[in-house]
Amino acid sequence: MRKNFIAGEWVAGAQASPDINPSDLSDVIEEFSQADKAQVEHAVSAARAAFPAWSLSTPQQRFDALDAIGSEILARKAELGELLSREEGKTLPEGIGEVARAGQIFKFFAGEALRPGGEFMPSVRPGINVELTREPVGVVAQIAPWNFPIAIPAWKIAPALAYGNCVLFKPAELVPGCSWALAEIISRAGFPPGVFNLLIGRGSVVGQQLLDHPEVDAISFTGSVATGRRVAEAGMKRMAKVQIEMGGKNPLLVLDDANLEQAVEVGQRCTASSRIIATAGIHDAFVKRLAERTRNLVVGDARDAKTQIGPVVDARQLEQDERYIAIGKSEGATLTCGGERVKRDKEGFYFTPALFTECDNAMHICQEEIFGPVASVIRAKDYETALAIANDSEFGLSAGICTTSLKYATHFKRHIEAGMAMVNVPTAGVDYHVPFGGRKGSSYGPREQGRYAAEFYTTVKTAYTLA
Ligand code: NAD
Repeated sequence: MRKNFIAGEWVAGAQASPDINPSDLSDVIEEFSQADKAQVEHAVSAARAAFPAWSLSTPQQRFDALDAIGSEILARKAELGELLSREEGKTLPEGIGEVARAGQIFKFFAGEALRPGGEFMPSVRPGINVELTREPVGVVAQIAPWNFPIAIPAWKIAPALAYGNCVLFKPAELVPGCSWALAEIISRAGFPPGVFNLLIGRGSVVGQQLLDHPEVDAISFTGSVATGRRVAEAGMKRMAKVQIEMGGKNPLLVLDDANLEQAVEVGQRCTASSRIIATAGIHDAFVKRLAERTRNLVVGDARDAKTQIGPVVDARQLEQDERYIAIGKSEGATLTCGGERVKRDKEGFYFTPALFTECDNAMHICQEEIFGPVASVIRAKDYETALAIANDSEFGLSAGICTTSLKYATHFKRHIEAGMAMVNVPTAGVDYHVPFGGRKGSSYGPREQGRYAAEFYTTVKTAYTLA
């Protein structure tokens, strides 16, 4: 049984929960201890106690620890990538790629630890100097979703530690394995006890306790809109700093002048762009090619080399996907392909990627986040209409356009209401050294990743000195 890491020690809980492989339900990866109330309390006090000294640790100390973690993750990317595919259902190349990215994130923030910013300037009054410095915010709770089991933990934990904070990390219930493996690496990196704590457990129990705890200074959350609202309310109530990343309904515009093959390639990452808006001149040819590609995608065991689409993560998500297939049909959209549960050798949550066409943006399937392999195609008369449809959404995470026109690409980048705009590249691929986050209902608070992470994980001090 895997334990939690609290105050520098591995601690067992009274209860444990299994981590199950969605490609093979008979495969139990491990049992994971669930942290109880007293253990969460202990972790918070340990983090609080560790903070004063850790907040004054040297950049070299933080660089060395983060760099060592990054190196180990990269060296073990094949093994950890396999674990990721096994517990989450992403294909093996995607799993290994995500692990490598986690390693690179630790390397990036190791470097950032060595580059603390600061400004020095004369006062507007004579004989006084002004200094601006950044200090860590304190004890930070971090709550992660299941869909990036190691990259999201990395992009929360690495900056928190790099800037001198203490961490209480709670992974998603469905994927504790990758977080446990990451915590095990962190446990050997030389941090004083209490600086980093792993707390596995239910969101409504461990998560809520962290949200409500008066000794937690800041909360970084990624997950659904419904939980994000709870995080915001709990944080506001006691004036904790919050960073909230939520859902998306990412649009992809495909214009008449797009390179068709490239657009099909970009559009095919169907889970990432869930609303595809094609203009009249290219719509039919594009839909035909995209449907062919989608139909031919091989659904199977995540770790099988032939697999292009792994299973859905759990029974609840599978039911949600099926429910939206029924909703789409009842709303009058055409189910061009997919959307069915399928059987494979082993019992798992297998579901064929679905493509709805002839959709209207007002339909539930176009407005609500499904979070499964279900994409909808909407026909638009021209670029202006397509842009208006793209922006007609409560979300604003990422948005893309396929076009060979500089005029439309430039206009799109300025006018799309999203945190990230992609021109002729998939909405799913992002870099780790630049900010990540959305607008509108997708995000709240400072951005994650890149140097912008400092906005959340530090607080600014303005000091005046009589010269
Ligand atoms: P979720 O909201 O169900 O759970 C996210 C985390 O919150 C889990 O660790 C869960 O245990 C915890 N939680 C649940 N209830 C809680 C409570 N009352 N108090 C504190 N914590 C609680 O989301 P999920 O199903 O794990 O993840 C999928 C969602 O994440 C999707 O909506 C997806 O769009 C979103 N997501 C967003 C981004 C982004 O950066 N914008 C990235 C990845 C995933």
